[in-house]
Amino acid sequence: MPDTKTIRQTPSHRYTAPPLLDTEILMPRNIALPHIEGLVSYEPGRPIEEVARELKLRPASIIKLASNENPLGPSPKAVAAMRRALATAHLYPDGGSYYLRQGLAKHLDVQPDNIVLGNGSNELIEMLFHAFVAPGDEIVCGERAFVVYKLCAAMLQARTVEVPFRNHVHDLDAMLAACNGRTKIIFVANPNNPTGTRVDNAAFCRFLDRVPNHTIIVLDEAYYEFLDNPPDTIGHIIGKRAPNIIALRTFSKIVGLAGLRIGYGIAGKEMVGLLNKVRQPFNVNSIAQAGALASLSDHAHIKRTRQSNKQGLAYLSGEFRKMKLEFIPSVANFICVRVGNGRAVFDALQRRGVIVRPLAGYRMPEWVRVTVGTMSENRRFIRELKTIMK
Ligand SMILES: *Cc1c(COP(=O)(O)O)cnc(C)c1O
Repeated sequence: MPDTKTIRQTPSHRYTAPPLLDTEILMPRNIALPHIEGLVSYEPGRPIEEVARELKLRPASIIKLASNENPLGPSPKAVAAMRRALATAHLYPDGGSYYLRQGLAKHLDVQPDNIVLGNGSNELIEMLFHAFVAPGDEIVCGERAFVVYKLCAAMLQARTVEVPFRNHVHDLDAMLAACNGRTKIIFVANPNNPTGTRVDNAAFCRFLDRVPNHTIIVLDEAYYEFLDNPPDTIGHIIGKRAPNIIALRTFSKIVGLAGLRIGYGIAGKEMVGLLNKVRQPFNVNSIAQAGALASLSDHAHIKRTRQSNKQGLAYLSGEFRKMKLEFIPSVANFICVRVGNGRAVFDALQRRGVIVRPLAGYRMPEWVRVTVGTMSENRRFIRELKTIMK
């Protein structure tokens, strides 16, 4: 008799397959976990080529102001380093990203052991769920916070407690009040996407001093480098030794490397160790590692990006004011404006070759979010918007 002993893993939840008739054709949906079919995919900003194909427009005539990318392009230093790295593309990357973690450690004045790398900071969000969240657990986030937190929670059958914003800003006291014994992660995006708002530093520090110690706190700082007077997040995490707090940052925004997919977390060594256990060995490719490392020293590109962004924000805000359109003052590289029917304005702009972001998914159906572009892109957007709103 063959050995039919099965290897048992400790199940975190039990799944019973639906009974199948012999004649029934087995479909993937019969095999999938029951909650998977109900998941909603993240809807990204639409790529230029896709819109060009669909609307029969020339790709060169289209501008994309939909994903908060850097309108000045990638850091030139990063591009040069990536060209050099291509010569060794036949080798697997350094799974531990030794040089990049050294470089980041120096840049941030922390230890290399305080850094964990992800295939975009989005992968780190997913890794945090794998490490800390089981079905039935809860997460707390703002109702207008980045939607990826909620999507990951649904994937792991965790409950999302969404706390209303106050004046378009995270209500940190209400978020603390929403925590209970089942709360595994609190997410605070600062500055937040899509609102472009920040919490003030005093409120932020008070919050960090009061967070429950049975909960992981994720500070998503994708737009941190755009801030004047940024909070001392690292001082809080490393200086004050807060083992349950992690900050997430990315190379996708200020240094213009969104296409490479690379971001990082800054946390205590124990947290970094846990995340490394759920990380795939070669999650960050060698070209991205080389580009990211070189971008750290490209101060000129970062400075130009911040200046151009400031100028763009001032221009867009001024035009919205003249057009008597309500907008949310932004500290990031995008801005939300109330246009009436957000979906209709998004469609009309797209037909005119300007891709922005509708916000119905954030329960802001009257708004669109526009990324700050180059000045000529910003002017084009305003011109098309005026034509449409007439
Ligand atoms: C753009 C963005 C990120 C960055 O994601 P990557 O995966 O690093 O490209 C993370 N969080 C928020 C809130 C963002 O808007």
